[in-house]
Amino acid sequence: MLTINYEDCTGCKLCVNNCPFGAMIYSDGRVMANELCTLCGACANVCRQGAIHIERKQASKEELAAYRGVYVWIETEELEGGLVPRRVAYELLGKGRDLADQLGQELVAVVLGDERLGQLERLAHQGADRILRCVHPLLAEYSTDGFTHVMCAVIAGRKPAVVLYGATPHGRDFAPRVAARLKLGLTADCTGLAIDEEGQLVQTRPAFGGNIMASIVTPYNRPQTATVRPNVFSALKADPRRAVVVEEVPVTLNRAVIRTKVVEREVTAGDGEESIEEARVIVAGGRGCQKAANLETLRDVAVQLGGVLAGTRAIVEQGWIPHTLQVGQSGTTVGPDLYIAVGISGAIQHVVGMSSSKTIIAINKDPEAPIFKTADLSVVGDGIEILPILNQMIQAEKEKAAA
Ligand code: FAD
Repeated sequence: MLTINYEDCTGCKLCVNNCPFGAMIYSDGRVMANELCTLCGACANVCRQGAIHIERKQASKEELAAYRGVYVWIETEELEGGLVPRRVAYELLGKGRDLADQLGQELVAVVLGDERLGQLERLAHQGADRILRCVHPLLAEYSTDGFTHVMCAVIAGRKPAVVLYGATPHGRDFAPRVAARLKLGLTADCTGLAIDEEGQLVQTRPAFGGNIMASIVTPYNRPQTATVRPNVFSALKADPRRAVVVEEVPVTLNRAVIRTKVVEREVTAGDGEESIEEARVIVAGGRGCQKAANLETLRDVAVQLGGVLAGTRAIVEQGWIPHTLQVGQSGTTVGPDLYIAVGISGAIQHVVGMSSSKTIIAINKDPEAPIFKTADLSVVGDGIEILPILNQMIQAEKEKAAA
């Protein structure tokens, strides 16, 4: 229910100008909401007097069933003058397809941007039944307020059952705001998503420092919303025969809604290095590498294989590598084709960040090390001795291939 406290309302009409549904009207010197109101909260958010209040009641089973469809926010990046979907978007569509099929509902890609949006047909080829194209000049670049405003309008207007976001810096920034504004739950950094026998989304994520995996359901409210880190799920193979259905969504967005402005962009020290998130080969070191200097051999092997060096939190804390190279729950989740773990015990907080790697080779001198439970190939031995030999072998193979 939406109520307006007329003692506080000044009649400034900000709510009228910012309602995405044209539901706030000004008549006889008073603002009021008409039947188009979806309780999206945009009006309450812009009201500087705090005069608008929204109360939402717990939904019944019948009301919950009215929410349909699995929606995926499609994060984009700038590429050659265009705005194209990021890899994480395809990964979420891959999982989203599975969830939508289990529910017997539609998989919808929601993409926000300006006229430069491109490669949208790939979203359909990789799973989406429908693409909602939300275009506005103020969505040319990411802003917390702008994206929250538009996503709230889409969700409140269309009532999806599930909404998924990438747990990227932007996804982590605005997904909680959307949830707070619409009074929804949000499970962050899910490592697993499934549908239970009641058709609820089961959101699995590490809890209590990673020592247990919690399964979270949302029995009384819709949509069920979650963020998922890049590299947790796999994208589907593109099927160009799939139909491409693009729906233009009218966007009402006013500059007054966006409280921030990008004044300058600065390249940080880490930029330019290949990120571990995107790497196809990772050679990761743990405390068993004994000292920072020994990591150079790991780096050499990584470079020979066209990959990058990474490591555990233990060696980040030792100051051997920066936090940007930390794999795991409080670092980055990776999903390379090859992950070589050297002197890593295999603590759960590390494993959740690398277990979706396609092939895992672990080298550890303790035959009981937990990392071997996750590895495809287990090498019991001294990593400090094995790595230089491995390096020479790769070098010799490369020379042989080049000869
Ligand atoms: P250790 O556990 O000390 O293991 C060293 C291993 O090296 C041992 O198995 C040993 O047998 C082996 N070894 C020793 N010498 C050799 C040798 N010469 N050759 C081969 N093997 C050798 N950790 C992360 O990595 N990433 C995270 O994001 C992360 N987040 C965390 C979040 C929370 C809330 C908490 C509580 C912990 C987190 N941790 C994280 C820490 C995690 O619990 C472990 O402490 C850490 O992963 C251990 O790192 P390690 O394997 O390098 O060291």
